[in-house]
Amino acid sequence: MSKTDYQLLLSKSINGELFSMEECLNILETPDSDLKELLDLAYEVRKKYKGNKVSIQILSNLRSGNCSQDCHYCSQSCISKADIDKYSLLDVNTLLNNGKIGESKKVKRHCIGVSGITFEDDDFDKICKHIKKLKDSVNTDICCSIGFLTEKQARKLKEAGVKRINHNLNTGRNYYSKICTTHKYETRINNIKMLKKIGFEICCGGIIGMGEELEDIVNMLTELHYLNPESVPINFLIPIKGTPFENMAKNLTPEFCLKVLCLARLMIPKADVRVAAGREIHIRDKQNLMFYPANSIFASGYLTEDGQGIMEAIELIKTSGFEYEIE
Ligand code: SF4
Repeated sequence: MSKTDYQLLLSKSINGELFSMEECLNILETPDSDLKELLDLAYEVRKKYKGNKVSIQILSNLRSGNCSQDCHYCSQSCISKADIDKYSLLDVNTLLNNGKIGESKKVKRHCIGVSGITFEDDDFDKICKHIKKLKDSVNTDICCSIGFLTEKQARKLKEAGVKRINHNLNTGRNYYSKICTTHKYETRINNIKMLKKIGFEICCGGIIGMGEELEDIVNMLTELHYLNPESVPINFLIPIKGTPFENMAKNLTPEFCLKVLCLARLMIPKADVRVAAGREIHIRDKQNLMFYPANSIFASGYLTEDGQGIMEAIELIKTSGFEYEIE
């Protein structure tokens, strides 16, 4: 793309205009030799809305495994044979301990993952009690990564102190039936709209590397452009042994991952663009460049898979020339 094209994209991004499919595909197909220009473009937008700061988010899995759904990428699904810990509710002391560690390292947000898609009221009340205890004992913001809620359950979660909810789209609408057959894309969209309506901040993103076409990535980011969530986590598939997608994501390159992050920044310019699972194995030694588009990362575990530790993440931010955000 020429300098003029980049200037046009910059002004469209800042004005909140939707890019055309062709413009998006041009970005995703940027020759690797031109990646620097694309990173500089994404950085212009990132700097305008997020400065030079990078925040860290950690994750605790409050309920693990035994899910009724068949999401093909997920180690906790009903069709997964992955060897993972399964439990119905994490011991509260372990949760509080994780919270204290995060607080002592000044992480910005503690995300609580809860496996499953719908919840019996009794189980849900126990989940809320654990979260309330965490909220009462640490200063960190709490986000909850959770399935489909009734409005009543969502309000209870709010009362427990949850400010933001993570519920991902995962991929584009047309590809969704290839990654999950037990629920519909539209149900996800409706769940997010309901949560937004009752005042939650929304964290919503996807997973790259599940055999999707470039158009599917663009379609997902287009939905996100309209949903305009506070936070957009971009995961790069960690192919977990024992899941149907155990052999996927072989062709992801660090350069391609960076192009996806740039497109996410340009299409949802004001959001926290977060590099979530898979950054270590797919972006590898180019992780210093991911901060040009992204202003947030996960550290210390992605549900059932280990991630880079918090201290290493802080080091990575600093040596990449960015500031670790401490509130
Ligand atoms: S992603 Fe969520 S809904 Fe899908 S199988 Fe995993 S835990 Fe269940």
